[in-house]
Amino acid sequence: MKISPARVWREKGSRYRLEGSKCKKCNRVFYPPKPSCPYCSHSETEKIDLPKRGRVISWTVEYVVPEGYREYAPIIIGLIELEDGTKVLAPIVDVDVDKVYEGMHVEAVLRKIFEDGNEGIIIYGIKFSPTI
Ligand SMILES: [Zn+2]
Repeated sequence: MKISPARVWREKGSRYRLEGSKCKKCNRVFYPPKPSCPYCSHSETEKIDLPKRGRVISWTVEYVVPEGYREYAPIIIGLIELEDGTKVLAPIVDVDVDKVYEGMHVEAVLRKIFEDGNEGIIIYGIKFSPTI
């Protein structure tokens, strides 16, 4: 898997802060940010900062992960409801797979998500870590 530096730069807002989009028509908020609304297809959205804390609603554990991510296996992918009600799909870290529970309080943290050993590129992104 190849991730270009240009793409990382373009997406840095959503990767380095917890930034979502708000639709100017239906006012729904979504993550990751997109230029058009996934609910009503309206093409005017604005970027907004999302709260960094939330609760785990649901999760799944990936034991088979793509090349380049093996050191992170198993990966817990959580559906997290932020304090403003926005739902985010993101990895949950710093907790054993059998210790995750519904309602667990988590907080967005910046973590390494990919490292290209050949080019020395390290990409950071948002993951969620338990707060208690
Ligand atoms: Zn909309």
